[in-house]
Amino acid sequence: MSNAAIAVRRTGAISRGVGVTTQVYAEKAQNAEIWDVEGRRYIDFAAGIAVVNTGHRHPKVIAAVKDQLDRFTHTCHQVVPYESYVRLAERLNQIVPGDFVKKTVFVTTGAEAVENAVKIARAATGRSAVIAFTGGFHGRTFMGMTLTGKVAPYKTGFGAMMPDVFHVPFPIELHGQTVEASLGVLDKLFKADVDPTRVAAFIIEPVQGEGGFYDVPKAFMEKLREIADQHGILLIADEVQTGFCRTGKLFAMEHYGVAADITTMAKGLGGGFPIAAVTGRADIMDAPVAGGLGGTYGGNPIGVAAANAVLDVIEAEGLSERAVSLGNRLKQRLQSLREAVPQIADIRGPGFMNAVELNIPATGTPNPDFTNRVREKALEKGLIVLTCGVYGNVIRFLAPLTIEDDVFSEALAILEATLRECAAEV
Ligand code: PMP
Repeated sequence: MSNAAIAVRRTGAISRGVGVTTQVYAEKAQNAEIWDVEGRRYIDFAAGIAVVNTGHRHPKVIAAVKDQLDRFTHTCHQVVPYESYVRLAERLNQIVPGDFVKKTVFVTTGAEAVENAVKIARAATGRSAVIAFTGGFHGRTFMGMTLTGKVAPYKTGFGAMMPDVFHVPFPIELHGQTVEASLGVLDKLFKADVDPTRVAAFIIEPVQGEGGFYDVPKAFMEKLREIADQHGILLIADEVQTGFCRTGKLFAMEHYGVAADITTMAKGLGGGFPIAAVTGRADIMDAPVAGGLGGTYGGNPIGVAAANAVLDVIEAEGLSERAVSLGNRLKQRLQSLREAVPQIADIRGPGFMNAVELNIPATGTPNPDFTNRVREKALEKGLIVLTCGVYGNVIRFLAPLTIEDDVFSEALAILEATLRECAAEV
């Protein structure tokens, strides 16, 4: 079997709407490495988009899942519930930031977590409007794509979006969008389009993921919390990509000193198995009537078993500290290349949620061609990296936090060689 042969079959069989960034067809994976159907090995700096923070097939996660497989795989929690679901909820209620009593609901994907967070916020406030941010990403369902602050490709061709959703410019100093300017737009929005007493929630990623790995300035998050409190608006932190040690804390909101009322989680929670969660203030979470939340597969026993094991691994292996030390090594290496690679415009990101932004040196404008070249050349050399950003000029780094030191060093060497070669080609 070859990658090329499967790629041809894929084109014939799969909707064009499902994009792929590589034509490397996976055969097996272990920790931070993936082998394709041709036997070629890759170092995985994508982690299935921040999912396998605990590595591919972590032995403790696999053992927990195997154990669950031998007992039962599905009863539907709404029909015949199970203790592991309750235990996982109790654990999330403890660890999700916020010094108040919390409750949780489990669903299956990040987009579904976002949908449910908005439903809960609407039920709790009796209001319908939601304010999101440009460049934000919240999923591909109807509310998810409406909240997403990027048209192409997420909204292209899909018609009218959900009503009562507004976007405020996400503050990015690097692009000249200051905190004050964004707050000014919010103020105008309240005057021109939507009375704050009609707004159910703000939804924000503490560090934008798909949008380009920009973190919310602390002053902005604090102000958002203040405005929310002033008007009875709820704050939803979308931690689908930032959660579970990626930013060097269990949750990215821990960097801010203010808490969200509702937190959405997915990806890293299941360590490679589909499970997502919404955790929030108990009174808010109890607003929907019985039967208003849930779903056939929500909190499926396999996903729950994996997630309980993921939380054990995070504790046992100190993955937040590991994220900080790996991220620092990566950022230092990138800094050392600034002279040789003048395209590097910015190196950033807390913990191991890191990115490098690449511009055309002469003009200081985004350089998506160079960015794609780096991604392709890294892949040729055996390193899988992803791009992101509204202008497609950001490379993001999301390796498993359990990556072995020697594999990590090897990846940094590939990255350095790739950047140097790409810069020399120009
Ligand atoms: N929110 C954020 C912040 C995300 O990064 C993503 C996925 N990239 C989603 C929501 C949607 O998650 P899913 O793809 O599991 O639906």
